[in-house]
Amino acid sequence: MKRILIAIDGPAGSGKSTTAELVARRLGYVYIDTGAMYRAMTLKVLNSNVDPADEAAVVELARATSISLVNGGEMRVLLDGNDVTEAIRSEPVTNNVSLVSSYPEVRQLMVAEQRKIGSKKGCVIDGRDIGTVVFPDADLKFYIVADIMERARRRQEELSARGEELPIVQVVRELKERDRKDSTRETSPLRKADGAIEIDTTKLTINEQVEIVLNYVNEVTMGQEEMQKK
Ligand code: C5P
Repeated sequence: MKRILIAIDGPAGSGKSTTAELVARRLGYVYIDTGAMYRAMTLKVLNSNVDPADEAAVVELARATSISLVNGGEMRVLLDGNDVTEAIRSEPVTNNVSLVSSYPEVRQLMVAEQRKIGSKKGCVIDGRDIGTVVFPDADLKFYIVADIMERARRRQEELSARGEELPIVQVVRELKERDRKDSTRETSPLRKADGAIEIDTTKLTINEQVEIVLNYVNEVTMGQEEMQKK
């Protein structure tokens, strides 16, 4: 079966990462969570006592930072060689990541790495700018959305599983703030890419989301094989 590149974008809590990871596993593809890379960079900023608002200092730090994603069972995130997979999900990281990721030079560094890993076909990559900027020529592009209340409920559940209990109003406020920052920044704002297939996951189970994506993958890979036969 022909291996393709699948780009999945959408706001926080839309279900894109869960879907992307499961789709990758089902297909035996590499999964690239680009949000995890921006989160790892943000963790480094916070741990280094650099002010996230100091763009020059953040960029300098980014140039001296190594971030890698290791696939194999579950994806692990390495920051300068240390496993930070759990640490990057903390509230301080979540609340500062939109600022750190808004700096064009930070994005340049991350995008270069993402293109390197994704250039081998057989990859599912998720983020905010994958179908628009990182891989505008991806074989398949998805834009995943969901109601704000459903997204907040999912995020609250995720936090609760980590032992962090937050009132739903606060979760809604933080999500809206992150949406606003991610979609209004100058460089690579979150938006639906041309040709992207929109999926609203508000009323879907994870299994249903995965099946919808896999059906599209089947169509594309079968179509490409037919074309090759001709
Ligand atoms: O996907 P996740 O919610 O973990 O992403 C964390 C943050 O990283 C986003 O809110 C956004 O600010 C940033 N991000 C980005 N571009 C990407 C992926 C994530 O700017 N491709």
